Amino acid sequence: MASSKVAHGKCLCGTIEIEAKGDYKASVACSCKNCQICSGSVYTVNWAYPKDTITVTKGADSLKTYEDKATDSGKSVLRRFCGRCGSGIYSEIEDGNCFVKAPIMEGGVEPQPVAHIFTRNLPEWAQGNKTGNQVENGS
Ligand SMILES: [Zn+2]
Repeated sequence: MASSKVAHGKCLCGTIEIEAKGDYKASVACSCKNCQICSGSVYTVNWAYPKDTITVTKGADSLKTYEDKATDSGKSVLRRFCGRCGSGIYSEIEDGNCFVKAPIMEGGVEPQPVAHIFTRNLPEWAQGNKTGNQVENGS
């Protein structure tokens, strides 16, 4: 049965707001190089939703796109971000999933991610920060 749950999120400056309908399929930490560069950290935490459950409810004209490619598969990754404050909003993957940046959502980075991909990129000093089911590589 489909959940009637709606989760809300907004960027740092509040220009962009989104809604995500239903439950996310997974919470995934990603340590791909591109996520590290974008975020300035050793991993991003993402909620994976089917693309058609995500709606930009405010500031859609400020939503910018960086056309990226997934590290290993070369699949298209559209990184959506706020053109004003630069916050990552979500990444649209070619397979139809959206990786919504968990910190922009109400409830944020809880609960602990079920999976952690691209752990091969975690530096030695961050090995203690692996979480969930660990996958050395990713998609
Ligand atoms: Zn913003």
